[in-house]
Amino acid sequence: MKWPGFLLPLVDLAGSVISPPPGSEDAAHQNFRGLSSRAPGTSRQPTNTPRTRLSSAEQTDERSIALDGKRIDYKLVRRRGRRGVGLKVDGTGMTVAASLTTSISAIEDMIGKNGGWVLKKLGEWSHRKITPQRWQTGATIFYLGEPLTLMIDAGASKVKVEQAELQIQTHLFVQVKAALHDPAAIAEQAEVAVVAWLKKQALPYLAQRTFFYSKLHNLTPPRVFLSSANNRWGSCNSRREIRFSWRLMKARPALIDYVVCHELAHLRQMNHSAAFWHEVERMCPDYVALKQELDQNDHRFRAF
Ligand SMILES: [Zn+2]
Repeated sequence: MKWPGFLLPLVDLAGSVISPPPGSEDAAHQNFRGLSSRAPGTSRQPTNTPRTRLSSAEQTDERSIALDGKRIDYKLVRRRGRRGVGLKVDGTGMTVAASLTTSISAIEDMIGKNGGWVLKKLGEWSHRKITPQRWQTGATIFYLGEPLTLMIDAGASKVKVEQAELQIQTHLFVQVKAALHDPAAIAEQAEVAVVAWLKKQALPYLAQRTFFYSKLHNLTPPRVFLSSANNRWGSCNSRREIRFSWRLMKARPALIDYVVCHELAHLRQMNHSAAFWHEVERMCPDYVALKQELDQNDHRFRAF
């Protein structure tokens, strides 16, 4: 199960990062858990349009509607050429997809018709809500499972990210050029800088773990790439290419190793058969507990 089509893939922010080419659909994937719930009878539409926030082909709007006496906030995403109205509920709340011209009353009709379903799903998701990342000094960033405290120096002459060179590395120092009195610009620059920093750490780290397990289990090392997926941890295709989401760097090393072993096992079994899981177990004996831990915490890794 994949992230619904109208949530577009994130655009890479760092030029140095290798992105997955489109259309590697022969791949075996490892999805984040839970993903989202789609209302029965509502439509989804895949799209390959790159995400551009200000594009006239797409408009987003924050709205709310009363359902069963409760005020429900939702995000309305209008896209040119979209057919039908799609409802989706996940850890970020409800998202409604519609065309640029669908009337609000038609949209609200559709939400109303599915009101029971929406409330039920919002209830199910309430305990693993994705809390948006805060981008200000004192906020926490998880790196290899450890909390790092964000320290932002605004108004610097250049953008720079540095992990504290202390014995215990507990802080992430971020310099941004934005002026001190402009919190929105500071947050935006800090996020871009931290994401680029995480990606820079991710490729050598993940490639090393992949190489380590390949050698250990007599596999020819595959080619390793980074992806910006926020719906799957990793994927593997028949060309012996493995892609890992840079978001994996937020998880603790044992969880990362499980994902590495999972993808490597796909080099022998391009499916999720019993033989595949047997292969995973051989490489990662604790895989059941690790998989469960990963599943239960995915909303923590998706804050940004
Ligand atoms: Zn898999």
